[in-house]
Amino acid sequence: MIALCVMPHPDDCEILCAGTLLRLAEQGVKIHVATMTAGDKGSMSLPPEKISAIRRVEAANAAKHLGASSYTCLEFEDLSIVFDNPTRQKIAGLLRKIKPDIIFTTPPVDYMADHEITSSLVRDACFNASVPNYHTGTDDAPTQKIPYLYYSDPIGGEDLFGDKTVTSVLVNITTVMDRKVEALSCHASQREWLREQHGIDEYVDAMKRWAAVRGAELGVTFAEGFRQHLGHPHPTECLLRKLLW
Ligand SMILES: [Zn+2]
Repeated sequence: MIALCVMPHPDDCEILCAGTLLRLAEQGVKIHVATMTAGDKGSMSLPPEKISAIRRVEAANAAKHLGASSYTCLEFEDLSIVFDNPTRQKIAGLLRKIKPDIIFTTPPVDYMADHEITSSLVRDACFNASVPNYHTGTDDAPTQKIPYLYYSDPIGGEDLFGDKTVTSVLVNITTVMDRKVEALSCHASQREWLREQHGIDEYVDAMKRWAAVRGAELGVTFAEGFRQHLGHPHPTECLLRKLLW
């Protein structure tokens, strides 16, 4: 079985679903990680090409900590991800290359446009990648099935109006929290950028606090929450519950 995590920026994967990926890897699931951008706007002092070079390495290291078979940076730019045909084709091309059984991405409603548009693009690609006459500019064959699709929690766990986000499944990540912290800590530059931009010096602590909130809902120390795409044509059985409960 193959899992693919497609997130907008380097570090979203580690914040939002690394624990679940680690648990899936323990079950023998192959893990692949992709980010839409190299995080080119994520610095107060370095120009885009310099911070991107740093963050590609950080993201690749973090993916290694998750035991990922591959890390792909799709080389779009921060604050510039759009829902257009070239972008749709590129994401479908990635799906044809990896052929995932299960996909993770950001939720349709999130705190900023890159996250919401990535969500739409990934959902769109799940269908398009299977259509033989849909051309992606690559030689990989169309996918043979529509994957299970899971949306992570939004950053902050709330919608645009401050209402708490609903989950369809919670995954106990208590046993892998130390490894999730190690993976997140690979993103040293982002930790610095957040400290300068937002005055927050608690990159890891904020992640743990949220995991503790989801954990309390499940009656464990730490958990990650997801909402499964249940509309046509995606499979509706809860694969995470089946594999990880
Ligand atoms: Zn992000």
